[in-house]
Amino acid sequence: MTVAYLGLGANLGDARQTLKDAVVCLAQQHTITVLAKSSFYRTAPIDAGGDDYLNLVVKLDTTMPVRHLLALCHTIEHHFGRERPFRNAPRTLDLDILLYGEHAIDEPDLIVPHPRMTERAFVLVPLVEIEPTLIIPQRGRADAFLAAVMDQRIEKLKSPCQCLAPNTAAGSSARSDGAADNAGDNAADNAPKGPCR
Ligand code: ADP
Ligand code: MG
Repeated sequence: MTVAYLGLGANLGDARQTLKDAVVCLAQQHTITVLAKSSFYRTAPIDAGGDDYLNLVVKLDTTMPVRHLLALCHTIEHHFGRERPFRNAPRTLDLDILLYGEHAIDEPDLIVPHPRMTERAFVLVPLVEIEPTLIIPQRGRADAFLAAVMDQRIEKLKSPCQCLAPNTAAGSSARSDGAADNAGDNAADNAPKGPCR
């Protein structure tokens, strides 16, 4: 099993619903257990125009090889209507592999740890929320990079249901259905609209 962290973002369409559905898709993979899910954050686009983004980070335990995980990310992005008309274009869904265990990968189409993760508040803030003492392989503690990104606008969204606050046993660690964000959400009453199996 490998612990991996994914960054999710969206700024087209119903971003919040898409992100929730994408987490459910991940959780329904037989080879993935979602261990934690950050709050949702509203963030300013970086190096791009367009509307604000919604972002979150999830922590996974998986037996899926990293190449399969990347392919799954692309499949889920595609399912939710991702198009790439130009670099940094607004997107219905972006799924990035931030960390995959201790692995360091530097290939044309896959770089892990994600090369820009330490420069982005929309990655670092939710990542540190769910893993305050996280060490990024070869770079050191994640929270050490926070000060340098604090000029980037980022706002934590309140969970409508405080009894299911993210990163609690009830809210995320013990749940793998991506349902910590709303009261009454669960995999049964909020069926994912994705390529889940
Ligand atoms: P970005 O996320 O950088 O805004 P895209 O989502 O369009 O842009 O991704 C462009 C390419 O980045 C993908 O086709 C993918 O192969 C590559 N890539 C390299 N490293 C990673 C990674 N760690 N996670 C996800 N995609 C990656
Ligand atoms: Mg991406």
